[in-house]
Amino acid sequence: MKFNTKTIHGGQIKEKAYGAVMPPIYQTSTYSQKSPGEHSGYEYSRTQNPTRHALERSIASLENAKYGLAFSSGLSAIDAIMKLFSPGDEIISTNDLYGGSYRLFEKVFKKFGLKFVFTDLRNLNEIENLISSKTKLIWVETPTNPMINIVDIEDLSKICKTNNLLLAVDNTFSTPFLQKPIDLGADIVMHSATKFLAGHSDVILGLLALSNDELAEKLFFMQNSSGAICGPMDSFLTLRGIKTLHVRMQRHCENARVIANYLKKHDKVDDVYWPGFENHPNHNIAKSQMNDFGGMISFTVKGNFDLVKRITSSFKVFTLAESLGGVESLVNHPATMTHASIPKEERDKIGITDNLIRLSVGIEDISDLVDDIKQAIN
Ligand SMILES: *Cc1c(COP(=O)(O)O)cnc(C)c1O
Repeated sequence: MKFNTKTIHGGQIKEKAYGAVMPPIYQTSTYSQKSPGEHSGYEYSRTQNPTRHALERSIASLENAKYGLAFSSGLSAIDAIMKLFSPGDEIISTNDLYGGSYRLFEKVFKKFGLKFVFTDLRNLNEIENLISSKTKLIWVETPTNPMINIVDIEDLSKICKTNNLLLAVDNTFSTPFLQKPIDLGADIVMHSATKFLAGHSDVILGLLALSNDELAEKLFFMQNSSGAICGPMDSFLTLRGIKTLHVRMQRHCENARVIANYLKKHDKVDDVYWPGFENHPNHNIAKSQMNDFGGMISFTVKGNFDLVKRITSSFKVFTLAESLGGVESLVNHPATMTHASIPKEERDKIGITDNLIRLSVGIEDISDLVDDIKQAIN
């Protein structure tokens, strides 16, 4: 089955009771048993629910994985992975990491004895120097947020295999439409389905996909033991969103391409971060591991914070808001919004300066989007 068919049919089975085309929302906590222990495969909805199960099979199919697991949020999916480790274990991650993941690592799991090391994962020699006998996992995001750096998943997976480490990829920005980490050698793929996968800014949900039997068993155990599962309604909404993923992503990418090129020529714009430019430092990796360049763009304007504040408050079609990946275009000021929790020196070091603006390009008519950017900047 091709990807564009899988978004609609991947992992789905015929509903037997009435032939419903969409999986019903099984809003139930428990299931009747014929005799003690004799049940239909579902006994209690924390452990398993048919609507959630349909979503879990869908993400497994999209990521070319054997197993899928669904959680109440992207962060609870990451939380389940971190609970696989024991005090003393070390995890290497990117220094340009989603703020919520950083908070979970440094403010929650560090207390339980896990050690996190942050580095530029594009620098492979540096990573080899950081690996110790205690290192268990490399956690990567690509493209990164908000600097849109690209990390080579296949190269990282080779380092992981040589050193007997797990490789987990946060695939939120790319979605399996653009990039399939398991095919590139990753062990676990994680999604904030809240963003592009569900795609309509109406649900918070997290997903994992993986193929290793033993690892899957441990994660199912964690999902059931900690219980951070998503409800059947949210599972249904995410499944519904996924059915148009390929059409939406195509338009996100098309629109972003036009906007990136528009911004590049604008005399009030300094740098534009979009991996589709041939002079983007990681353009060749993006070209080889992604099918297109995605809907996320960051750029800097020539001017001070006051000007940036005026620009970001002047959009009419773009909405000034956190989050990303929905059908509607959003504008974000990382330094005061999504990345405000990172100390200013750290922000400046990685390029999150006060004049940096991030766009999540939606699927509206491109001429309305360009006009909006034009009037906001001018
Ligand atoms: C939003 C986001 C998360 C966290 O997901 P939630 O669904 O908000 O818990 C993790 N990683 C990335 C890259 C994100 O954008």
